[in-house]
Amino acid sequence: MIYLDNAATTKPCESAVRGVVKGLELFGNPSSLHKCGLDAELLVSGAREAVAQSLGCTADEIFFTSGATESSNTAIFGAFKSQGKRKKRVVTTTVEHPATARPVDELERLGCEVVRVSPDDNGEITAHDIFAAVNDDTFLVSVMLVNNETGAVLPVQKAFSMIKKKYPHVITHCDCVQGYMKLPVKTKTLCADLISLSGHKIYAPKGIGALYVRKGLHIPPLLFGGGQEKNMRSGTESVPLICGFGEAVKALSGSVAQNLEKVRELEAYFFEKCAENEDITVNYRSDTKSPYVNSISVRGLRSEVLLHFLEQQGIYVSSGSACSKGKKSSVLQQFRIPVQALDSTIRVSFGIDNTKADVDELMKALTLAGEQLAKVK
Ligand code: PLP
Repeated sequence: MIYLDNAATTKPCESAVRGVVKGLELFGNPSSLHKCGLDAELLVSGAREAVAQSLGCTADEIFFTSGATESSNTAIFGAFKSQGKRKKRVVTTTVEHPATARPVDELERLGCEVVRVSPDDNGEITAHDIFAAVNDDTFLVSVMLVNNETGAVLPVQKAFSMIKKKYPHVITHCDCVQGYMKLPVKTKTLCADLISLSGHKIYAPKGIGALYVRKGLHIPPLLFGGGQEKNMRSGTESVPLICGFGEAVKALSGSVAQNLEKVRELEAYFFEKCAENEDITVNYRSDTKSPYVNSISVRGLRSEVLLHFLEQQGIYVSSGSACSKGKKSSVLQQFRIPVQALDSTIRVSFGIDNTKADVDELMKALTLAGEQLAKVK
């Protein structure tokens, strides 16, 4: 199997699997006062420390959730409940993942004024465009770091630092799901008050994520109950998943830069090979993009037909993004990808174990697809 759909999810690494097993074996409830509880609590606090260290923040700024969707919902509705009564404007972009876009739509339904900044004719969103959309009535700015369909890196750091200088009370949220443990993400430089993270994109299990909440910022929780996670996220902690997440983070820590370099080389090789096939167009290129996520179109072939053809060759990619489930992606349209290319788009997303040989196999299969599949106009 050649797995090139790492932006949809990744295969849990051995350390993560061992972490999950350890969390199952030490089965106590972290809230229990006896030794079983304490052992489980130690696993949770070890994982919290690992995530905190990876972001350069303190452990008490990390709250475990069921994934980035919950983290972003907590951030967005939390910001609304804490400030949205007095202020009305939310600034975001037109290229966010649904985990951010849908809760923001809901705020609009509740009466907020939402400004969605879209890419310019070159498919770029500038820090200035984001900053210019903020005014005195703004309480939340939510911008993703890496787009999950194109790999575009948004100028979050620059935009948030400009915003914080002029509007220090605006809450800044960043969906870092496709950037975390792939690019150097640090809380100090990002200028984000809230950061959403997901485990299953970084070789940890599904159903676990985290929300970073800057010390000093108080937002109400989404879930009320037993008061776990210092009242930020009630519900008995999933010790196995948290432990698996922590172990995946530890396994990657220290090799983020080295992995980035390796995947950059792989991306360059992939683009070189794409240029050799005149039916293939690389949909989004930029010096600043993440090499982990790549969008291409194959002339005359429908994405889904191509996806299943590749699957028969043992190669796994996605059409657009996994969340769009075959629908024409509005996000790709926002990046100015021509309408005729949308039907033929596939996303090739690399993981740290992919090799040039995997790219060679993909390219061979794409050539075969061009020869064997019926072309559409
Ligand atoms: N944000 C981005 C950019 C994503 O790619 C994803 C998952 O595809 C999410 C948020 C949602 O993450 P989770 O599956 O942990 O809820």
